Amino acid sequence: MNLEKSKTLFRGAKEVIPGGVNSPVRAFSSVKMDPPFIKRGEGAYIYDEDGNKYIDYVGSWGPLILGHCHPEVVKNLKEVVEMGTSFGAPTAIETKMAQLIVEAIPSIEMVRMVNSGTEATMTALRLARGYTNRSKIVKFNGNYHGHSDSLLIKAGSGALTHGVPNSPGVPEDVVKNTITAKYNDLENIEKIFKVYGEDIAAVIVEPVAGNMGVVPMTQEFADGLRRITEEYGSLLIFDEVMTGFRLAFEGAQSLYNITPDLTCYSKVIGGGLPVGAFGGKKEIMSQMSPIGPVYQAGTLSGNPLAMTAGYTTLKILKENPQIYEEINKKGQRLEEGLKEHAKALGVKASFNRVGSMLCMFFTEGAVEDFEAALTSDTEKYAVYFKSMLQQGIYLAPSQFEATFISAAMTDEDIEKTLEAAYHALEEVKR
Ligand code: PLP
Repeated sequence: MNLEKSKTLFRGAKEVIPGGVNSPVRAFSSVKMDPPFIKRGEGAYIYDEDGNKYIDYVGSWGPLILGHCHPEVVKNLKEVVEMGTSFGAPTAIETKMAQLIVEAIPSIEMVRMVNSGTEATMTALRLARGYTNRSKIVKFNGNYHGHSDSLLIKAGSGALTHGVPNSPGVPEDVVKNTITAKYNDLENIEKIFKVYGEDIAAVIVEPVAGNMGVVPMTQEFADGLRRITEEYGSLLIFDEVMTGFRLAFEGAQSLYNITPDLTCYSKVIGGGLPVGAFGGKKEIMSQMSPIGPVYQAGTLSGNPLAMTAGYTTLKILKENPQIYEEINKKGQRLEEGLKEHAKALGVKASFNRVGSMLCMFFTEGAVEDFEAALTSDTEKYAVYFKSMLQQGIYLAPSQFEATFISAAMTDEDIEKTLEAAYHALEEVKR
């Protein structure tokens, strides 16, 4: 595989952009290679600057559930771009988008648009603190909620200890109110609430964690979180940035039959453009500025391009509910095929999948929390990843990310992927 142009571009990028990338995992450092530079995408495929074609299982890290350049999304964007890209004033499409979300999600009566998942979670926490008049928040080890200061906490710190910053530049003062807890461990969260319950504004959780591979909450844990937060008057925030409108139109909360107090979105609702959102009951959302005291703003929030890409994507999903069945079925076929290959070749692997989000961990035994995810052999993943890339399969360059199926993928794409995976697993075995 020729990656010469990409290598040259990467050298140039590194001169003027830290690490050559605008988001760290794009640097491919965990798989110890240089990244291909992507030139264009079409449906299930992306093409790099050297002309290599890949089946894309990253989908811009989740947003592109319909694949690249869906014709309707492109058509609508072209129409809108000619009318102006941003006004910093209300537009009709913002209300249409909000109505669509409110109609789709029973837990949401009002929603505010922002520009990223980070903004959504950061503001949802501010709102929770403002609403409850409490300071502390709980997050789970291995859950990622973006890079705002109070959520950048080193995973694995003791159950009842306060978090410590895991990035220079985050003052300890900022994270002293963030408590880290063990995912899928109800006893742990019960203990935390016994000590700090009256001061906890909110628990934020990825209902299906997609940032330590794919690790779903157990139903028992989900029910327990709802019960405990209600008992103590804390808010339960579902971070559905990755799962929202992907695992089902109504999101992961519908799969667990849980009504969170607030929900955060991004990715799919932006259709590939920068969008985030958070929403919940009117009573809580009414605390937001300008009708309430909790401040938040955004120059480009709800801009016509982002709203159009997102609205078109959500409308297509709403009108074609079979898409979910199809991508889930493809996910199932991929999982089964990978399992068969791993078994046939004697490669130790563990699988988690929820619908169109899948992860093969190079470890034995069930992966139900961060600690188990960390037992994965990342060296083996790097070998697997490189081999897949060379065979035209573009996976996330990290063991701890999800594989995403898009509606643009065909059964042939999945079979081709499985064929490549057999060879890649042979290399892992060597
Ligand atoms: N929350 C979750 C669950 C995510 O997966 C991510 C990003 O991957 C974020 C929040 C942050 O979103 P963004 O990268 O748009 O700021």
